[in-house]
Amino acid sequence: MGRCPRCAEGALFKGFLKFNEACEACGTDFSMEDAGDGPAFFVMTIVLFLFTPLVLAFHFITDAPTWVTLTIWGPILIIACLALLRPLRGIMFNTQWVNKAREVHPDDFKKPNAD
Ligand SMILES: [Zn+2]
Repeated sequence: MGRCPRCAEGALFKGFLKFNEACEACGTDFSMEDAGDGPAFFVMTIVLFLFTPLVLAFHFITDAPTWVTLTIWGPILIIACLALLRPLRGIMFNTQWVNKAREVHPDDFKKPNAD
């Protein structure tokens, strides 16, 4: 929904895909967000599995020239990717936040009483 994972009040995004630095309602820090290319991978996979059969069925059932198929389905695929990218970026961040996922630091491997 594009809301803060902690309070569900503040906006998660300040642009189409750019995150706010912190929640405007509760102050939760969003700087730890690091979805990387995870959302893009899932978007490509979902769009590939959903649309490839449709595009191929359209192409072979209508016997349309390739340029017609690409002209019709190209924009549809781009719009589908853009429509899914923001929700999946939010889902990836919420998953990261709920599981307290973060980068590993060398201090994580120190034993508690190693001094
Ligand atoms: Zn919040």
